[in-house]
Amino acid sequence: MTDAVARAERLAPRMAERAADYDRDAAFPRRDIEELREEGLLGLMVPSRLGGLGAGFEEYTRVAVALAGGNASTALLFNMHASVTGGLASISDELALGMGAAESFFDARDRILRAAVDGAMYGVAITEPGVGSRLSELRSTYEAEEGRYRIRGTKAFCSGAGHLDGYLVAARRAGSAEDQPTISYFLVPKGDGLRVDDTWDPLGMRATASNGMEIDAWVGEDGLLGGVEGLVLPLANAMPQWLVASYAAVYVGLAEAAIREAVSYLRTRPVAGERGALANLAPVRQRVGRAEAEVHASRLALERAARLVDLRPGDPETNRWTYRAKLLAGDAAMRVAASMAEACGLGALRRGAPLERILRDARSGAIMPPSSDVTGNHLGAIALGAEDGLAPW
Ligand SMILES: Cc1cc2nc3c(=O)[nH]c(=O)nc-3n(C[C@H](O)[C@H](O)[C@H](O)COP(=O)(O)OP(=O)(O)OC[C@H]3O[C@@H](n4cnc5c(N)ncnc54)[C@H](O)[C@@H]3O)c2cc1C
Repeated sequence: MTDAVARAERLAPRMAERAADYDRDAAFPRRDIEELREEGLLGLMVPSRLGGLGAGFEEYTRVAVALAGGNASTALLFNMHASVTGGLASISDELALGMGAAESFFDARDRILRAAVDGAMYGVAITEPGVGSRLSELRSTYEAEEGRYRIRGTKAFCSGAGHLDGYLVAARRAGSAEDQPTISYFLVPKGDGLRVDDTWDPLGMRATASNGMEIDAWVGEDGLLGGVEGLVLPLANAMPQWLVASYAAVYVGLAEAAIREAVSYLRTRPVAGERGALANLAPVRQRVGRAEAEVHASRLALERAARLVDLRPGDPETNRWTYRAKLLAGDAAMRVAASMAEACGLGALRRGAPLERILRDARSGAIMPPSSDVTGNHLGAIALGAEDGLAPW
């Protein structure tokens, strides 16, 4: 392990101070991202041979939990970037050769990762209107022409759209079979081929700037990530950690922040007609106790998933834990934030107060892919005897 977690913990209080302004304006948290860059955290997942911190998945989760304690939107942007760099870094030369990757892949992989160490930041553009994030149903297409690819389509939400250096775009090969589509990942650099639909104004996670994008872009042969077509679905089914458990870290950090905020309010807010603060009331104490136990349980599930991802990536039990961690974290964040809000009352819920923002942010955990309903359905099917579950992708 590096000192990355300590760096993230140092940044989090400063992010917390700026969070209300970015939230109010639904603005990209520019200063937060600059500080991540200055601290070298954009290179967290990049192997040390390329100048990065060479972190594994477990270390990523600890960094993301710490950042989410400051501003969950910033942590989510960081999660998207870590998914691109972490996913790419995990494709070793051996694995790429085994998959039949083109020669151009190796240089492209190292170039993208080195750029992250130098401060480049990436996002992920999967979700489409009317499709959500169901990868097998994506409508964006690509065509191969004279050693280049043309990618066209509409993406509904992409955190950081318009503010980043490149975007991981998932698209289907034009004309590929409906029941067995070839879905591939491309890294599309910022530029003329991407038009941002700047309309993001949601309930929570407002500082993610998750705008839509119209895409009509050309990339070279080396823009095909992994160096082979059709990687997206096999990867999502075999090693879903960057599509599933990475979000869990953000929502565990957010749930912890809900308790911290509530505790500091409850200890100082006096009770009318009584001596002492709200914290002395038994109903309030039991709310905090339940919340605290629930957050610790979801953190333990996250830690278990993360450790397994580092030890045995792609193992069926590892994958089940990634889904469990996502489900528990998304639901815990929502329940805990709601309960803490109720314990504190309106005094802690003024517009712009930290707990008010956390309550709105926490609503997103269960709907981020795979949603709690989809995840529960998948895990339930496995528990009921379907070996591979329901292939949520
Ligand atoms: C803060 C934030 C940031 C985001 N950032 C990005 C990003 O960077 N890149 C990106 O690509 N996307 C991003 N998204 C979009 C996110 O991936 C989608 O919200 C998600 O995929 C769900 O799509 P949808 O909201 O259109 O819901 P829909 O797909 O329309 O689903 C609606 C509801 O139906 C339920 N449902 C759908 N299918 C099933 C099923 N088969 N079984 C049971 N229930 C089902 C879902 O649980 C959901 O509650 C972001 C979303 C948020 C909230």
